[in-house]
Amino acid sequence: MSTILLNGVCPECETELSTPPIVPGETLSCPECLLTLRVEEISDGRLRLRMVEVQLRDWGQ
Ligand SMILES: [Zn+2]
Repeated sequence: MSTILLNGVCPECETELSTPPIVPGETLSCPECLLTLRVEEISDGRLRLRMVEVQLRDWGQ
């Protein structure tokens, strides 16, 4: 198997990201700003990423 990497750009900090094959709907983290990004679409090996608001649950301690 060849090592294919998909490329995308973080919408927040514009860092170039590369990731092993991933499918739309999956999420990854930007190594630079640590935001969670969701894959919206993949075209020609380019990822279109969208920021995901991560809501942490309040465990009510
Ligand atoms: Zn980023």
